[in-house]
Amino acid sequence: MGWPTPAIDAHNRAFWTGGRDGRLLIACCGCCGAWTHPPVPRCPSCASERVEPAPVSGRAQVYSYTINRQRWTPELEVPYVIAIVELAEQHGLRLLTNIVGCAVEQVSIGMAVEVDFAQRGEVFVPVFRRAAT
Ligand SMILES: [Zn+2]
Repeated sequence: MGWPTPAIDAHNRAFWTGGRDGRLLIACCGCCGAWTHPPVPRCPSCASERVEPAPVSGRAQVYSYTINRQRWTPELEVPYVIAIVELAEQHGLRLLTNIVGCAVEQVSIGMAVEVDFAQRGEVFVPVFRRAAT
């Protein structure tokens, strides 16, 4: 589909590869329990360095989105949805992603979605689909 592959480093490796085991891994503080995304080595809530990737439910809601109709590269399949979703685990815990598996016109703010993964080499990019229920 002509998508770039994310650059993996020590802090984001779990996020980009957890999908190999079907798990969405988000940085979680071992001291105060706060979730953080993008992953960082120090907890923004309590400054602890005991931050480790931990699995979340994969349930989320569409917080905001836009539809891209511009074919930026010849291989790119358009249109597609670029979205910010808020994970069920924590208010304000949001990530940038794509909504897949439905017509772009069917996406709406507040729509319940669940994680799926798009494999690109060693990377399993978290994407979201409309929730089954
Ligand atoms: Zn903390």
